[in-house]
Amino acid sequence: MTPYDEALKLILDHVRPLEAETVSLERAGGRFVARKLESPTALPPFANSAMDGFALDTGGREIPAASRWRVVGSVAAGDEGADPARNAGGGTGRANGGATPGRAVEIMTGAPVPEGFDTVVRVEDVEVEEEGAGHPSRIRVTVPVGPGQNIRPAGKDFDVGDPVVAPGHRIDPAARAALAALGLGRIPVLPAPRAAIFPTGAELVTDPDRELAPGQIRNSNGPYLEQAMDELDLSVLTNRPMGDQEAPFLEALNEVLARDVDLVVTTGAVSMGRYDFIPRAVEEAGARILFHKAAIRPGKPVLVAVLPGGALFFGLPGNPVSVAVGFRFFVHPFIRALRRQSREVAWRLPLAESVGKRPDLRYFRAVEVVEGDDGGPAARVLPDQQSFRLSPLLAADAWCVLPEGLDEVPAGARVDVLPL
Ligand code: AMP
Ligand code: MG
Repeated sequence: MTPYDEALKLILDHVRPLEAETVSLERAGGRFVARKLESPTALPPFANSAMDGFALDTGGREIPAASRWRVVGSVAAGDEGADPARNAGGGTGRANGGATPGRAVEIMTGAPVPEGFDTVVRVEDVEVEEEGAGHPSRIRVTVPVGPGQNIRPAGKDFDVGDPVVAPGHRIDPAARAALAALGLGRIPVLPAPRAAIFPTGAELVTDPDRELAPGQIRNSNGPYLEQAMDELDLSVLTNRPMGDQEAPFLEALNEVLARDVDLVVTTGAVSMGRYDFIPRAVEEAGARILFHKAAIRPGKPVLVAVLPGGALFFGLPGNPVSVAVGFRFFVHPFIRALRRQSREVAWRLPLAESVGKRPDLRYFRAVEVVEGDDGGPAARVLPDQQSFRLSPLLAADAWCVLPEGLDEVPAGARVDVLPL
């Protein structure tokens, strides 16, 4: 039995990197960036106003309420900003060469703050005392003002060279907005990892319209894995139920190997039963077994191997919760590594109630998040979890990890909690 940490390390040591391609930003949405991207420019590109109001030159001083200012120009978003007087309606002033205290410029949100002006007051804090040609020409500021107010400095969001996205970052709306704002139009992205699913078992029926003969059950592992892979944006090449015969399985395996898969996931036929043909079949296929049986519950009989060509083979046991755990705690970290993402960091939550366990195994249990004694969140292990029961998974908010070395994890002990 291989301890979980060692088993995971073996997997992560055998990640065959995906080859990046470059696509336009419009086509990059929902995809994963191949490498860290840095900002080529400052954002905002120039200091601009956060408010509609008036830019003032305070000369760096704090100015008490009720100060009076002469308005010498106007700048709107999209104006060049160097010469506010040029945009003024009625020749209220000269060009803005070396503004002196007492001078103001009407300014709109997003407009560049003209040279020599160092703060912006909101229009709500201003009374217009005089107008000329439909523009304010003298104002009174009703509140105290100091330098630096309501100005968004150049580079405050991203400076040149700042990291924008880490490797493996999924281009979600925020990432797409940032990349567009920075003018990054060509994005190196990774292809979707290519997966094949083979549920095994002579007892399986997949067609929902077919009646079950005595001894048959419906295939739930295939749908589970396909949905889990869809949600991780994998490309599922095939999801094909197999019986318990080695020869047709080997044929199907070789077919997908020829189609350049990155991972093959099987369920069932991996333990000690007479018809458990998977360990023999993968050796027959020329795979190198990394481990067979991990010190975990559920899912102990799991087998992971490197297939010829370098794809990874995950032989998960047939019980539905063993499949869920094997996917979440072996396949999912492998996918993260394929995408060059960093290791997942767990939340730590106190256990709401104590749980007994076998000290030699690491347990993965479905939990609901409840209110703990201190009013904060706590993880409550859902009752009656057995590897054949799907119902606790539907009630679950998250997974928790109960570590090796303990025969009971007491209430209040902090445990790792990971999203479903
Ligand atoms: P095995 O690992 O092949 O011994 O299967 C363990 C248990 O999981 C048995 O009760 C199987 O009937 C059940 N099982 C195997 N494959 C599936 C599947 N695809 N869907 C639902 N149950 C399965
Ligand atoms: Mg079986």
